[in-house]
Amino acid sequence: MKQVCLSFDIEDWFQVENLREVFPPETWDKAELRVERNTRQILDILDEKNIKATFFVLGWIAERVPGLVKEIVSRGHEVASHGYNHQLNYNLDSDALRKDLENSKKLLEDITGIEVMGYRAPTFSISDEVMTMLKELGYKYDSSLNDFPLHDRYGKLSGEKSVGPFLHSSGIVEIPMPLVSIFNKRIPISGGGYFRLLPFGVFRNLVIRFLKENNLYVFYMHPWEIDDEQPRVKDIKLTNTVRQYTALAKTERRLRTLVDEIKKRNNARFERLGQLLTSSVKQEETGGAQ
Ligand SMILES: [Zn+2]
Repeated sequence: MKQVCLSFDIEDWFQVENLREVFPPETWDKAELRVERNTRQILDILDEKNIKATFFVLGWIAERVPGLVKEIVSRGHEVASHGYNHQLNYNLDSDALRKDLENSKKLLEDITGIEVMGYRAPTFSISDEVMTMLKELGYKYDSSLNDFPLHDRYGKLSGEKSVGPFLHSSGIVEIPMPLVSIFNKRIPISGGGYFRLLPFGVFRNLVIRFLKENNLYVFYMHPWEIDDEQPRVKDIKLTNTVRQYTALAKTERRLRTLVDEIKKRNNARFERLGQLLTSSVKQEETGGAQ
């Protein structure tokens, strides 16, 4: 059976790297918080489609809207960590990095009473050092490797990698973001900006094809990506304007359609990311018997 994991990085519109020059962290408390409404809209879509998903919640957000974090859990989804402060990990020194990973995990666990297993790095800024710390702090998996060479902010991991989940030398399971090769170029089909920038039909076809050739497809997006009414920030670079504002009004409909098409064409089961680990452990314990 093919598996699909939908994941959502829960942060607000002003916390995105694209707008960092205009909204440094010390200004966040003055910005309009829109994350609750947008996340509930995603939760409603998931209910409507009868799907359970994984929510990587930013610590800063969890602290301000703990009720939302509890609601994500009570509606059947997995809560995992998106770090505390949404800084690019390679810009932090080791102490600050460890605090960010540790505080965000503890905060979410205090709110939900459930162990946090997973982590997704802000802007996919993963590294071997981050993986080692995740292991030391009791995380079980990471889902931040987006091995796309043309994006200037993404991180890297050393060692053997694979398209599907693999065990990194740190002892952490890596569940990478999917890419497809076309004309010797690797194209990210994991979601986010690419979900809005590529024509929908092209994106959908690439996902359907990927799932025919692979057993697991991981998708991600953010609550602000379905919010066409978010404040528009001018005076940012054109590339950032494009990354932040393209096709916001269409994204919600696209998400519904993508789910329907995958269900129709790939006969896939929708899972939480943490569930992948539990089921593979169970299989090992029972000697691989189903
Ligand atoms: Zn993020």
